[in-house]
Amino acid sequence: MSRQLRVLVVEDEEAIRTGLIDVLVFHGYQTDSATTGPEGLEKALTGRFDLILLDIMLPGMDGYEICDRIRAVDRDQPIIMLTAKTSDEEIVQGLKLGADDYVPKPFSVQQLVLRIEAVLRRSQVGRQQARTLNLGKIEIDTENLCGGGGGKEIAFTKREIEVLTYLAENADRPVSREELLSKVWGYARSLDIETRTVDIHIAKLRRKIEVDPKQPAHVITVRGAGYRLVLDG
Ligand code: CA
Repeated sequence: MSRQLRVLVVEDEEAIRTGLIDVLVFHGYQTDSATTGPEGLEKALTGRFDLILLDIMLPGMDGYEICDRIRAVDRDQPIIMLTAKTSDEEIVQGLKLGADDYVPKPFSVQQLVLRIEAVLRRSQVGRQQARTLNLGKIEIDTENLCGGGGGKEIAFTKREIEVLTYLAENADRPVSREELLSKVWGYARSLDIETRTVDIHIAKLRRKIEVDPKQPAHVITVRGAGYRLVLDG
């Protein structure tokens, strides 16, 4: 890699923050850190980071709000939330606000590094794939994460585009949630909460691209098999 990747660590607990920075520096990343919510948001919006590790409980402003505000101006910024508990609600909330992934605390260094690498790899692969995806009346610009059709402008997250692209590449068959987790998210195994994250992304996609999200014509459910993308229709 020609350039050192920059990671912002937003975490108020000193032991965890310094632990994260040590791991990142050891693995060759350049780091910056913030200890409060407002400081984290400011650095996130003004610095150029390849990845942001974002704690949820922070003084001044919580990680959800920071994530939401970053997404309002930059849909592309890779963000991993650090969750104190692996409670479904926390994870689901973070993913709904557009986090790319989450790491439960206490984290294993190996798991953390693998997830960081997976998110960074996807964000860089994504940058290289410039192409258009046609779904019936909707044309999607997969590089600029936007689409249009029928007079409607649609904004997508990077993860949504990755899901669509993978389904499009395999449009001849249904793709299971486990396969999506493995190929798109980079997870080695599928816990229940993780397969649910696939469903959350599919539901969000349907609201964006389907005329009637309850009767999808493009991202269809194949009972017992997964999801299949119908390109025209
Ligand atoms: Ca905290």
